[in-house]
Amino acid sequence: MPLLRARVDAARANAAALGLDTFLVSSLVHLRYLFGLTATAGLAVLHREGATLVIDHRYRRVAEEAGEAHPGVRVCLVPVGDSYEATVARVVGELAPSAVGIEADHLSVARAAALRRQPAWPAVETRDTTGLLERLRLVKDPWELSRLREAGGRLAEVAACILPKVSMGCTERQVAWEIDQALHAAGFEKPAFDTIVASGPESARPHHRASTRAIDDGDLVVVDFGGVLDGYAVDMTRTVAVGAVAAEPRRWRRAVFEAQQAAMRVVAPGVLPSVVDATARNCLAASGLAEFFVHSAGHGLGLDVHEKPTIGPRGDHDGPLAPGMVFTVEPGVYVPGVGGVRIEDDVVVTTTGVECLTGAPQPFESHEL
Ligand code: ZN
Ligand code: ZN
Repeated sequence: MPLLRARVDAARANAAALGLDTFLVSSLVHLRYLFGLTATAGLAVLHREGATLVIDHRYRRVAEEAGEAHPGVRVCLVPVGDSYEATVARVVGELAPSAVGIEADHLSVARAAALRRQPAWPAVETRDTTGLLERLRLVKDPWELSRLREAGGRLAEVAACILPKVSMGCTERQVAWEIDQALHAAGFEKPAFDTIVASGPESARPHHRASTRAIDDGDLVVVDFGGVLDGYAVDMTRTVAVGAVAAEPRRWRRAVFEAQQAAMRVVAPGVLPSVVDATARNCLAASGLAEFFVHSAGHGLGLDVHEKPTIGPRGDHDGPLAPGMVFTVEPGVYVPGVGGVRIEDDVVVTTTGVECLTGAPQPFESHEL
């Protein structure tokens, strides 16, 4: 089981360090992270004594289970016909806080205004706590790592099963559909995002949507897919060559592969994310391909498919890499109108270096598997 109590306590302690005795959590992902609650609505108030979950009757049972499992967590139901804002305002008002932390990244302008209109809302300062919980999520606990390892292994199996089927005449959407079915068969709850299958000239578009285009002789096909297991997302990309691929795209592929391997080799505790990015970028620059690498080298993974840390030129605001951080390493080369290559794996920082979670084969031709 996830160490929920430790997460709630850490969040309260970090809020207290900012001088906040009350902290309104409005991100649904954070409700899952702190309380194991999967809901489409809900708020939580962290305070001196513990936490209060404000939830409507649809989620009464799951919220009460969260409360029973964690002493110090109280459940407050929104009365039928009443609003979340009025209920939260009463909860916060009764705490008589000195200031209230809010997640400005997740609390809409409309909801913030509605809260302030409530008579029970206290006339105290509100302070933005954006990043407080995101930073806690940076380092995965052992339960999270076990889920991500399991998910990475299953995703590698999906790759081994599907990539040999990428062949001439298949449409991009057919391949995407096969991948989505394989994700389901592998036990994933859902794809982590809309599966990307980008063939021929479309492979030059990093986030192309799978279309009705039929894969042709000589195409590079970028296949980028991910799955969610127990709430945790994994994400990988392979680029497959179909038929007679020209020498220049083959050179791009070799360069991207070498850049990815070099970037993965530098991952270790204490290394800045920008150094991982620069390692990939410098490799591609040495092959004359720097101008075609148009995105960051990776992104964090967890309850969101894109989260901290950012592995990019400006990714150092959260400090150096530490054991337990999980992210992708995914350099790419995109030559507009011609084609592209991306190779992506997921890694976890260990106490001594790095472990790859998606250790699937790296085929180039689809028949290599
Ligand atoms: Zn991806
Ligand atoms: Zn990715």
